[in-house]
Amino acid sequence: MADIFPDIQTTLAAYRAKTLKPSTVAADLLARLEAENPQLNAYLRTYAPEIAAAAAKADAAYASGTARPLEGIFVGVKDNLLVAGTRTGSASKMLEGYVAPYTGTAVGKLLDAGAIMIGKTNMDEFAMGSSTENSAYGPTKNPKDPSCVPGGSSGGSAAAVAAGLCHVALGSDTGGSIRQPASLCGCVGFKPTYGSVSRYGLMSMASSLDVIGPLANSVADARVVYDTIRGADEHDATSHYIKGAKKLAGDGSLKGVRVGVPREYFLPGLDADVEGCVQKGIAKLKALGAEIVDISLPNAEHGLAAYYVLMPAEVSTNLSRFDGVRYPASQMAGAASLIDGYVKSRAAFGPEPQRRILVGTYVLSAGYYDAYYRQAQKVRGLIVKDFNDAWQKVDIIVSPTSPTVAWPLGEKVDDPLAMYLSDIFTINANLVGIPSISLPCGEADGMPVGIQLAAARDEDLFLLDVAEAFEKAN
Ligand code: GLN
Repeated sequence: MADIFPDIQTTLAAYRAKTLKPSTVAADLLARLEAENPQLNAYLRTYAPEIAAAAAKADAAYASGTARPLEGIFVGVKDNLLVAGTRTGSASKMLEGYVAPYTGTAVGKLLDAGAIMIGKTNMDEFAMGSSTENSAYGPTKNPKDPSCVPGGSSGGSAAAVAAGLCHVALGSDTGGSIRQPASLCGCVGFKPTYGSVSRYGLMSMASSLDVIGPLANSVADARVVYDTIRGADEHDATSHYIKGAKKLAGDGSLKGVRVGVPREYFLPGLDADVEGCVQKGIAKLKALGAEIVDISLPNAEHGLAAYYVLMPAEVSTNLSRFDGVRYPASQMAGAASLIDGYVKSRAAFGPEPQRRILVGTYVLSAGYYDAYYRQAQKVRGLIVKDFNDAWQKVDIIVSPTSPTVAWPLGEKVDDPLAMYLSDIFTINANLVGIPSISLPCGEADGMPVGIQLAAARDEDLFLLDVAEAFEKAN
């Protein structure tokens, strides 16, 4: 990334020292967006006049000494996060023309702290996918190799960070959608503890799994965003303040930290070069003083199957509001008959939301509920127990983030199962609700590899400390 667009703390220090102005960064950013976004398609929409105006205000705030904590920090916002008065559409034709009536809590906190929104980042439609190819507005390209996918569903946010088209970006993670694209694009992606960030203003995909979190160039930048957006919120009954207690030794080492390596995550199917990078990462954790412990998560292998029952069940419920009457209003109004209206309005969903709504409706239907939904809930319970047992022995669990590096665009679009498998390592953290982070950890075939670290529920700050120690030792 060019010097004019460094990390958040350096940027803020330069603003305060008056060696850099937000408007200078904005001008650079707007030029880059014009040059690079048409090809990358990281942003669906950018707000050039608003960016320039906000940057001028930020300049004035620094000049008058009234700058807020993140004044002049430029953020990308995933298209499923509501921002009042702006088009928000989850990259779906279903929401063509929809303008958000209010601003969600996480985005609102960033804007209140002085951050400037650049625009809405591309994503898989309604956050369903692992490559951003399910966007109704064309795929995002991976900045490391534009012939490859950026991962998904927050692929636009990951690409924006990796291409230097923002300081940080917000994403959402239901089964890996922050961590997996971060891994494939070579940046940091942090999925916080479930409920530690309010979901108010996030278009729900699967409400018991969804979390908002940052994609960033460094752990420090991710932490700044997390510290700004987290906390209890009266608009989300599942939100809370984290009460983590674990601490590092404080000397930059990982002495006393027990890192569990789950046997079940290092089996055939994992790309050998990816595994090599992750093993080097584990050696680095050990060199930092961590104790490496062999552990077992016996039910972990069933996580993917349980997820692909539970998630569609919640999707079918959440997306039932897109009924052609309230959204998209226009379809029903012009319909020849009720049935015609149903058909026309539902056709606005792309193939992946349609597939999941059908699966979800099926697993919740009378007669199949016990066989599928209830069974999957039981499996979820077993996986929660596996992780709770593991936390008796270790403080951190390490794994690859993705079984492969980024693959060529188009390679998996016709094979949903192959696509679903790319979330095999990320999904369990959502089923269990724990914090989990993906960090760059070398390259395989010239493409970035991510290592995933997870910690017990509410130990987000400890996890970020461990991640930062890992990152600094690079
Ligand atoms: N890729 C996963 C899916 O398709 C996860 C999506 C997400 O986290 N939003 O469901």
